[in-house]
Amino acid sequence: MLVLKFGGTSVGNTQAFAQVAQIVAHARAQDPNVVVVTSAMSGVTNTLIHAARSAAEGYEQPYREARSDLLLKHQLVAGQLIDDGVERAAYGRLIDDRLRSFERLCQSIHVLGELTARGLDVVSGLGERMAAPLLAAVLRAQGIDAEWVDAAEIVVTDDSFGSASPVMEPTCAHTTARLRPLLDAGKVPVVTGFVGATADGIATTLGRGGSDYSAAIVGACLNANEVQIWTDVNGVLTADPRIVPTAHTLPELTYIEASELAYFGAKVLHPKTILPAVEARIPIRVANTFDPAGPSTLVVPDVTDEGSVKAITAIKHLTLVNVEGRGMIGVPGIAARTFKAVAEVGANVLMISQSSSEQSICLAVPEADAPAVISALQKELERELSRHFIDQVRAMHNIVIVAVVGAGMRGTPGISGRIFTALGEARINVIALAQGSSEVNISLVVTEEDADEAVRRIHEAFFAKAAASSL
Ligand code: ASP
Ligand code: MG
Repeated sequence: MLVLKFGGTSVGNTQAFAQVAQIVAHARAQDPNVVVVTSAMSGVTNTLIHAARSAAEGYEQPYREARSDLLLKHQLVAGQLIDDGVERAAYGRLIDDRLRSFERLCQSIHVLGELTARGLDVVSGLGERMAAPLLAAVLRAQGIDAEWVDAAEIVVTDDSFGSASPVMEPTCAHTTARLRPLLDAGKVPVVTGFVGATADGIATTLGRGGSDYSAAIVGACLNANEVQIWTDVNGVLTADPRIVPTAHTLPELTYIEASELAYFGAKVLHPKTILPAVEARIPIRVANTFDPAGPSTLVVPDVTDEGSVKAITAIKHLTLVNVEGRGMIGVPGIAARTFKAVAEVGANVLMISQSSSEQSICLAVPEADAPAVISALQKELERELSRHFIDQVRAMHNIVIVAVVGAGMRGTPGISGRIFTALGEARINVIALAQGSSEVNISLVVTEEDADEAVRRIHEAFFAKAAASSL
């Protein structure tokens, strides 16, 4: 059993739909049991949300325009890929029906002048409910017996509108009951991504980008052999190719490495969304719809190779906040109070490092959180500051964390040595660093001017030879 998820760009236009049909046909040749999960056509969710918000603010134009734009966008694909007149007419009625309810919803939002999270989920989930029936019809036009399924029938969630979580037990019961008979009848179910419903049947969504989540949920429930995330890039690369032109696709990555990379800003799978697949130990393949025969990345439970460094990523627009002073030595509780103050302002702390001499603690936070963090620390540590136990709470702006990720770094000596040699040769100053005891990642703080070069130098130190010898 394979679960294939197609993202927005993979169903972005006629050519993309045609591409998807080929990929599904190819998958079925490998495994007769294929389930498809689809996102809305690219841009559609944004359009829907924008229209609903504008309606609440008193504007009717955006939803009126959206209605005709969305009709055109979907009908264009239908007109080009569905030859059968009866099929085309049926889809025409469906899209008309969807868009009519979209307009009615927006009218009510406009009258009320208010948009609730619950109401927004009804509107924003319409994109997938227009795309899945279209994809099923396109597959049928290509001779693949497909049937679309509304995930509201199978994915049971809590009522956290806008970012609902699945309740796995009833979800799996419904998924199996609904999809198994279709598969047994030789059909390909085409399930709407992103959407679900509470046990009472109220529409919910799983959060932006939630179709990956849907695929992982369905894959886990059906115990799929593989969940495939079809997107518009060749899997996960060793670095951002805009920074490192020689970056290449990683054939394999572990769940932990993938989540470290996501944490440090690489555009990979979001840890939360793949959790159902991770818990079921189902491998996840990230592949390119527009280059199906090209390289892809398989994300697996455990390390199978002896590789050391897998990828290098950078997270920008950060501020490094330093709490420093000789008086901190041996004074218990400073670290705890520092973290408490930061937690109270709700800042997202990306890295923490304390020197063993205890003369400083530094935290990397997003630029936008820095002012609140600094004033919270100054308040919390007021006494120590006035007595000069702490010299100052100092901010260093425009810094970047370069994260070097690889589960195989564990117990492999010499890796940090190679990193620092590479940076030293380029005369790049490392401001702070941290290594988690899991040894899956080494994080270095450098200035924004040095960041790209640092990524390139580290990449070169670990991959230049490998890339050259494979040519
Ligand atoms: N269509 C939804 C979004 O744009 C879900 C997804 O694409 O995964 O967020
Ligand atoms: Mg999307």
